[in-house]
Amino acid sequence: MMNKLAEVLDQVQSVAIAGHVNPDGDCVGSCMGLYLYLKENYPDMQTDVYLEKTRDVFAYIKDIQEARTECEADAVYDLLVILDVSSTERIGVAAGLLEHVKNSVCIDHHVTNGGICEMNHIFPEASSSSEVLYHLLEDDKISKDCAEALYTGIIHDTGVFEYSCTSPDTMRTAAKLMEKGVPFTEIIESSFKEKTYIQNQIMGRTLTESIMLLDSRCIVGIVRQKELDFYGIEVKDLDGIVNQLRNTKGVDVAVFLYELSPQTFKVSMRSSKNVDVSRIAAVFGGGGHVRAAGCTMQGQPFDVINSLTLYIEKQLTGVE
Ligand code: 5GP
Ligand code: MN
Repeated sequence: MMNKLAEVLDQVQSVAIAGHVNPDGDCVGSCMGLYLYLKENYPDMQTDVYLEKTRDVFAYIKDIQEARTECEADAVYDLLVILDVSSTERIGVAAGLLEHVKNSVCIDHHVTNGGICEMNHIFPEASSSSEVLYHLLEDDKISKDCAEALYTGIIHDTGVFEYSCTSPDTMRTAAKLMEKGVPFTEIIESSFKEKTYIQNQIMGRTLTESIMLLDSRCIVGIVRQKELDFYGIEVKDLDGIVNQLRNTKGVDVAVFLYELSPQTFKVSMRSSKNVDVSRIAAVFGGGGHVRAAGCTMQGQPFDVINSLTLYIEKQLTGVE
């Protein structure tokens, strides 16, 4: 653990910043927040940020078009900072860098992260990696642009200060960022709430076809590849569906499956109470948080659901 990031920047001339596969708001916000902070305060340092292609809704984040979606095999940096990445296999485009960097720092908030870098700064109590990162930076060196990125990360991982991961410290951090003049209404509207017509259609369809299991304490929604093809959309357009499933009255756990390739499903889980979904995801090689976790599973949807509900039921009935 360190007090401030500056402690590891001594003698460092080049830094690579990287996030996780299929980057979400917190991943984009924390990576871009750090990128802008380093570019602005350490102009002589070579700073690069690696992110898989980000959703258009994040286009307002300054310099996001500079994010690199590919990494050269022989790229070498003094320091690699990975943000919001809970396990090695989830490092996105810059996975190859970890082996030959001189030093590496992991900044994260996933309870399932066992520490994947030389230095690990992991706070599972924090709402978001963006909140963890804020405390490693010096407030007076944070620009409005950097604040916009970090604010984005916090609102995405807290569902705009709703989820239980939100703490008084989250609010204090958001307040500090708000003091930088971030256009919070626009950020929340455009990056979090607004959906395209097609996104609303696929969400509506998934909700209509959802099924209730375990005495209506578990809801399951599924999107097959043929539906993605039909609507001409990508996996990143499915954001928010699992949260809407979870909003169903009486439901403890929402499970959302979407087909990555034939018989391979990405599983997204959310729980409102009683169930620790990170433990269930971990059984199937995934991870995440108590209230939001995921994994990838093989088989027919029926088999995947059966495997998951076995563990969900154990927690609901207190067997485990
Ligand atoms: P989502 O359902 O939004 O994709 O992910 C919810 C949370 O679970 C995120 O914090 C994410 O990092 C974590 N998560 C999702 N899928 C996986 C996975 O396959 N492996 C691990 N380790 N974590 C995951
Ligand atoms: Mn996060």
